[in-house]
Parts: sequence; structure tokens; C-alpha cells
Amino acid sequence: MKSYDLDGIGMTSARSRTRLVNQLERNGIAHQEVLDAFAAVPRHIFVEEAMAHLAYQDRALPIGHGQTISQPFTVAVMTEALLETRRDSVLEVGTGSGFQTALLAQLCGKVFTVERVKPLLDRARRRFEALKIRNVHSQLGDGYNGWPEKGPFSGILITAAPRAVPQVLLEQLDVGGRMVVPVGADGNQRLKVIDRTDQGYGERVVDAVRFVPLVKGLRT
Ligand code: SAH
Repeated sequence: MKSYDLDGIGMTSARSRTRLVNQLERNGIAHQEVLDAFAAVPRHIFVEEAMAHLAYQDRALPIGHGQTISQPFTVAVMTEALLETRRDSVLEVGTGSGFQTALLAQLCGKVFTVERVKPLLDRARRRFEALKIRNVHSQLGDGYNGWPEKGPFSGILITAAPRAVPQVLLEQLDVGGRMVVPVGADGNQRLKVIDRTDQGYGERVVDAVRFVPLVKGLRT
């Protein structure tokens, strides 16, 4: 596990991070690697400075452009679900702040991430740079198309909700791979885990969740 040394601020936030990790554990997150990743990745770097003091509370926060950094518990549930299968090459749709991406970078071989809002992607890229994260490849694009040149992926994690799972993304999932995706209209979303085997696709519902919608096309 990589660790980040961020001077004085790192000291205070390391303590707050431990509190958050303990809370996640109390709420049922059992996968030690996921807990270790939360302990290692400084979430306060992924929010605006004015909100840094809220970064280790278990809540979603606004990141601009009508988007949010997801709630840590939800991020942990999704990450845990993804890690149960192979994790050599993972596609994330919806980079947003880049926090989930940074966690995946700790836990997976290669991480590909796609975001449709350029200013969010630019900010996330600066954070990866600052944290010296080297195994993340990011692209401005419409995640509805996935990233066909880099697939198939052993895992696909979608951090915004489509009304239905896009067929193109299912096709970019490798046999033996797993997709974690919130599906449904606002107010009625379910987190789904979809496994691809040589027999086809199998899915189960994990949880009721609340995500921003997956939007078609680039932001103009
Ligand atoms: N994992 C992020 C979640 C951000 S919210 C985090 O924790 O910070 C979801 C993100 O998905 C937003 O940044 C939004 O702009 C992006 N998004 C929505 N539709 C998209 C699409 N079609 N392609 C790529 N990104 C999309």
C-alpha cells in the first residue's frame, strides 16, 4: 500500500481518516484492503479547500458543475463489490473529483477513467499528479461509449446512474469480470452487481442508492 506524506495537514487528516475508517468498519465494511485504501487516500485533497474540514465525514459533498463526490460508505460498498473478482484492468465511468479513482489505483493494476466535464477532469488530473498516482489513465469523453480501445476490462465501475445498463459497456466487460452500477431514475435507483461468465450475464441488486444521473454526451 502506498502512503502519502502531506506535511502538517497530513497529520491531522490521518487522525480524521482513522475515525472515518472505524466508522466504515462499524457500518459493515469488512474488506481490509478497502479500509486500508481509505486510510491511505487523503479525501480532503479531492474537495474544495472551503470544504476540506468536512472531508472525513461520511457524506457526499458538492464538487461544482452540479456534481458531487460520493458518500464514503457508498464508495466503500462499490469498491468492495468490485474487488471480489479479478482486478487487473478497471474502467471507471464518471471521474468526478477523482477520489474513487485514487482508491482504485491503490487496489487495481491499471485504472481507466472517463469524465464528460472538462474542468472536473482537469482538477482530478492535477490531484493524481500531486499524489504521484501513475497507474491511472484518464480521458475526456462520454462514458456511455466506455473506452473500447482499452477494453475489455476485468471490472467496470459506474459512478453516475443510467436508466438502464448501457449495452456497449456490458460488451466491454471481460468474461470473468464484474460491473458495479447504480441503475434507475432519480429517487428510485438500485446498486447492481453484474457478472459476466462464459454463460452470459448474471446480476444481483445490492442496495438502494442515490447518484447523479449518467448524462449522454460531453458537457458543452
Ligand atoms: N466518483 C466520483 C463521482 C462523481 S459524480 C467521485 O466520487 O468524485 C458522477 C460523475 O459522473 C460526475 O463528475 C459527472 O460529470 C460524471 N458523468 C455523468 N455522466 C457521464 C458520462 N456520460 N460520461 C462520463 N462521465 C459522466
